[in-house]
Amino acid sequence: AAEEGFDLEDVEGAIEAAGHGPLPVLAVVGRPNVGKSTLVNRIIGRREAVVEDKPGVTRDRVTYEAEWAGRRFKVVDTGGWEQDVLGIDASVAAQAEYAIEAADAVVFVVDAKVGATDTDEAVVRLLRKAGKPVVLCANKVDGPSGEADAAYLWSLGLGEPYPVSALHGRGTGDMLDQVLEVLPEAPAQTFGTAVGGPRRVALIGRPNVGKSSLLNKVAGEERVVVNELAGTTRDPVDEMIELGGKTWKFVDTAGIRKRVHLQQGADYYASLRTAAAVEKAEVAVVLIDAADSISVQDQRIVTMAVEAGRALVLAYNKWDTLDEERRYYLEREIETELGQVAWAPRVNVSARTGRHMEKLVPAIETALAGWETRVPTGRLNAFLGELVAAHPHPVRGGKQPRILFGTQAGTRPPRFVLFASGFIEAGYRRFIERRLREEFGFEGTPIHISVRVRE
Ligand code: GDP
Ligand code: GDP
Repeated sequence: AAEEGFDLEDVEGAIEAAGHGPLPVLAVVGRPNVGKSTLVNRIIGRREAVVEDKPGVTRDRVTYEAEWAGRRFKVVDTGGWEQDVLGIDASVAAQAEYAIEAADAVVFVVDAKVGATDTDEAVVRLLRKAGKPVVLCANKVDGPSGEADAAYLWSLGLGEPYPVSALHGRGTGDMLDQVLEVLPEAPAQTFGTAVGGPRRVALIGRPNVGKSSLLNKVAGEERVVVNELAGTTRDPVDEMIELGGKTWKFVDTAGIRKRVHLQQGADYYASLRTAAAVEKAEVAVVLIDAADSISVQDQRIVTMAVEAGRALVLAYNKWDTLDEERRYYLEREIETELGQVAWAPRVNVSARTGRHMEKLVPAIETALAGWETRVPTGRLNAFLGELVAAHPHPVRGGKQPRILFGTQAGTRPPRFVLFASGFIEAGYRRFIERRLREEFGFEGTPIHISVRVRE
C-alpha cells in the first residue's frame, strides 16, 4: 500500500469504515405535533423534506442514516402519519408499536409545553412492555424558562427528561450523548450471534399481492411450534416455519396476518411495517402480483430491502391467473422496472395452488450465500489487475485514474473498498460492479463499493 501512495493508517481506516456491520436502530416516537420530524431532521443533519411532506402523500422513506460523535446508526421517523378513524390513542399506539419493535433504542418525544397527556401515558406503557432503552425528550424547551416544564416529565417514570428544542437545536447534543449511552453498538438481532439458529426472512410486498396467503400456504401443515431453540429469542410476531428441512424465522408476521384497518395513513403504516421487517431480517422475499402491472410501490419496496443491505428474492405470485399475453408483458415490465435488481433470484409462484413453493427455499439459500460471499484479497486483486489492464478508466483532463488495489471489507452484504489514483466515475464503478458479479456470483445480494482516492 505504501508504495502506491496510501499510508497504512488510511487504508486500515477505509477498510474499517466500509466494513461496518449492520447499524443499530433508533426510533423516534410520540404524539402528533410534538416535534418528531423536526427532531429527526436535526439528528440526521439534513433539512430534508421530512417536515414538508403534504398530508395524504405516501411516505415510503422512514429510515435514515445518522451519525453522532463518530457513531453511525439508523433513525426511524414516525412523524409522517395521519391521525385516523381509530382515534388518536389507537393510531399513536399502532405506529409506536411497529417502530419500537424494530428499534434497539427509543427516543420518546413529549411536548414539554403541553405536559404529559393520557396518550403519552399509553405510549409509556408500550415502552415498558417492550423493555427497550428509552431516552425521554422534553421538546419545545426553546429557552431556560421552559426547563421547569421539562422537569414535570419526571412523573412519567422514564428517568431524566432531556430538555430540547428540536427547532433551534438547544439541548439536542446532550440528548444524543445519552442516546449513544443506551444504544447498543450493534443491533440486537446481530447477524451471526445466533449461529446455527434459524435464518430470518421478511416476507414483504404491497397490499393484496398475497403475503398472508403465501404465509398460510407455507406455514400450513408444516408449521412447527418451537419453544426452546438455542440462541433464538421467541417473539410473538415472528413465526417459525419448517421448509425444505430447515426452520426459518419469518419476521413480523403479525403485521401480515393481523390486518389493521386504517383509512388515512394506511400506506404509511405499511411502509413502517415493511421497514421494521426488513431491519429484522437477513433476507427479504419481495412478493409481486404478477397479474398486475409492476408499480412504483413495488419498486420502492425492493429499494427498501436493497438500501438496507439485505439479501433479496423476488417472488411473482398469482402465476395461476396468467395468460400468454400477460406473461409476455410481465417479462418486458420486469426488464424495464426491475432491471436494476436482475441479480436477484426469481421464483414464479402461486399461493393459491402451491405452484413452485418448493423453489422458494433454494432461492432464499442462493441469496443468503451470495450475501455472505467473501472474496480473498489475492483473488480480488488478480481480477482487478486484469480488468484495469483490459478496460482502463477513460482519460479525463489529461489524466487517467487507475484502480490500484482493493479489498473486501465486509460481508452481509459484500462491501468492497477500492483504492484509486484519481476520481473514478459512476459509470466505471457500475462497470466494475457488473464484472465483479460476473466473476464471483453475488446472486441475490446488493454489493457496496466505495472508492478511496489517493490525496
Ligand atoms: P411531529 O408531528 O411530531 O413530527 O411534529 P413536527 O416535527 O411536524 O412539529 C410540529 C410543530 O411543532 C411544527 O410546527 C414545528 O415547527 C413545531 N416544533 C417542533 N419542535 C419544536 C421546538 O423545539 N420548539 C418549538 N417552539 N416548536 C417546535
Ligand atoms: P396480502 O395483502 O399481501 O396479505 O394479500 P392476501 O394474501 O390477503 O391476498 C390478496 C388476495 O389475492 C386474496 O383475495 C387472495 O385470495 C388472492 N391471492 C393470493 N395469492 C393468490 C394466488 O396465488 N393466486 C390467485 N389467483 N389469487 C391469490
